[in-house]
Amino acid sequence: MKVYHIAYEPSYESVDIHIWTKCTLDCRACYTNWELYDFSLYDDATTEIMNRERQTPPDKFLTYDEVINLLTPLKIKYAVFMGTEAALDPELPRLTKELHEKWHSYNILLTNGIVMPDLTDIDQVIFSIKAFSEDIYRKYTGRNNKSALKNFAEIARMGKNLHAEVVLIPELIEAEEIEKVAEFVASIDPNIPFRIDAYFPVPECPWRAASNAEVEYAAELAKKHMKQVTILTLDMKRIGDKAVRIF
Ligand code: SF4
Repeated sequence: MKVYHIAYEPSYESVDIHIWTKCTLDCRACYTNWELYDFSLYDDATTEIMNRERQTPPDKFLTYDEVINLLTPLKIKYAVFMGTEAALDPELPRLTKELHEKWHSYNILLTNGIVMPDLTDIDQVIFSIKAFSEDIYRKYTGRNNKSALKNFAEIARMGKNLHAEVVLIPELIEAEEIEKVAEFVASIDPNIPFRIDAYFPVPECPWRAASNAEVEYAAELAKKHMKQVTILTLDMKRIGDKAVRIF
């Protein structure tokens, strides 16, 4: 498999499985260039990243059996698949199926949705929509957003528990652009949970941190279209225990 890191959060019985693939996007502020490991291992992950050197990609990967062996002693209520683009690992469907069968876990996939993932044993999809406007999407990610928007609508039609997530980046993906994303999501289903994250500065990128006021304003605009809007600002503290590194 392409699993290179596993973190476990005991208070939630939640395991984060990090998978490294060649991502379908090339986001300018992709934090995986500076931080390979789970944010929940740190007290203040965003400050850690701001002061980091660019990291070399992982070169040690676990086999499928090694992943299962490491998971076996754990109680797993939630399994979260992330990394770069976890859905591109061909062995992911086998792993999610085994987690369902043996652990009865609730499986959550984080994705950019450029490629339609196999969702057979995925219970929840957290879909990162970078932007609605094609020029902004391309400026940030290096490609167009047609397949992402189409796949978002398709996953909603499947009846999966689908969440939308967008990052507010000052002077790039601003409140007005986030409102366009909200309008798009609302055209599919205004009840889809919609989360706005504050951008935190990443080395080599020109943008400053998003303020609480900017994120709150974007949420106001999004609420004109969406019924369940939440925000994640940079001063919010972790709830639950610090995670432990399993691999
Ligand atoms: S989609 Fe995620 S992993 Fe891929 S380049 Fe963008 S931020 Fe990085």
